[in-house]
Amino acid sequence: MKKYIAPIIILLIFLTVAITLWLTKNNIFYLFNFTYIGVSIALGLFLLIKKYKHARRIVQLLVGLYMLVYLGFIRGENMQIEGFWYYLFTGVFEAATIHYAVAKIFGPLIFGRGWCGYACWTAMVLDFLPYKTPEKPRKKLGWIRYVTFALSLIFVSALFLSKVGNIEKIMFWAFVIGNAVYYAVGIIAAFAFKDNRAFCKYFCPVAVFLKPMSYFSLMRIKCDKSKCVNCGKCKKVCPMDVDMTDNSRKRKNGTECILCHECVKNCPKKAL
Ligand code: SF4
Ligand code: SF4
Ligand code: SF4
Repeated sequence: MKKYIAPIIILLIFLTVAITLWLTKNNIFYLFNFTYIGVSIALGLFLLIKKYKHARRIVQLLVGLYMLVYLGFIRGENMQIEGFWYYLFTGVFEAATIHYAVAKIFGPLIFGRGWCGYACWTAMVLDFLPYKTPEKPRKKLGWIRYVTFALSLIFVSALFLSKVGNIEKIMFWAFVIGNAVYYAVGIIAAFAFKDNRAFCKYFCPVAVFLKPMSYFSLMRIKCDKSKCVNCGKCKKVCPMDVDMTDNSRKRKNGTECILCHECVKNCPKKAL
């Protein structure tokens, strides 16, 4: 049973959030929403422990499609960063605000960038592309994410300051167009840099939240130095260029780890 402790804890955390929000906000949607996400993630972790090779992709599709199609397109919640600013400005405690608080601001203190590995609907598509491990060295272009972050904030601030009407409708279309732009830029960047995760490394504004919080993450890939023979296989398969053989929190690209476990699966000495 000990090896199943992680999925059980994750499931219990999500069930606690689901029941607390359901009862405090008197809205059964929260019970359904967080139970669904918790069960999907716990199932993925269970399959991962069982060494099922498509475990991560299954969770990515279960959670990513649910958020994009059901929450985004059907329920009309803007779950992108613009939606977060929007609901924050209006002071409404809606799905996008809760989603950001749980998955991208406070959650990473526990599970790091697990969101990026197991749930993001942008990466869900990008991970189908051919460059699963980068074929070119990482570029120093991470500053672009701060520009996109600022642009998202300026866009929503401008909507509020100009007092335009029908802002809900604008936010819905911002979600549709924003996602189309993310996918287009992500796919072009993947082929240009020969790296499926180029969008995550250079362009994604959400990483501005994710990186500092995941620095303190409880869940981390650690290396048992007594077993490691420095063969370098782990670094070759890492999609995010992390130096996972260094256990320090300041390790190279440490805040980029998406907990995909590719390094763990490929270590011949079971050192990770
Ligand atoms: S960095 Fe951005 S696009 Fe990439 S997986 Fe994370 S949230 Fe998604
Ligand atoms: S390969 Fe290992 S270090 Fe790299 S992102 Fe995946 S889990 Fe993290
Ligand atoms: S694959 Fe394993 S043994 Fe090889 S360098 Fe990485 S941790 Fe060490």
